[in-house]
Amino acid sequence: MLRPNKPSRPSRFPKKQYFSKKKYCSFCKDRIRFIDYKKSSELGSYILETGKILPARVTGTCAYHQKQLSKAIKQARHMALIKFIESRRG
Ligand SMILES: [Zn+2]
Repeated sequence: MLRPNKPSRPSRFPKKQYFSKKKYCSFCKDRIRFIDYKKSSELGSYILETGKILPARVTGTCAYHQKQLSKAIKQARHMALIKFIESRRG
């Protein structure tokens, strides 16, 4: 049975590009053992505008620090140092 020739698909979409950050753990680099939730300004660079925590594969944070980071962010949220989610507009 002859199949009609499928039109060739256009070239694949390029892989999702996250904003380029250096791919190494900045906490390891600075030799930080425990991430302080009170330093909300530092934590701010690891959360999105929507309040989501950036995954480790984006920031390059190691597993050890990513776990601490998420904990710290959650603590900071609880202490109202950073917001939970961006309030919807309209
Ligand atoms: Zn690390």
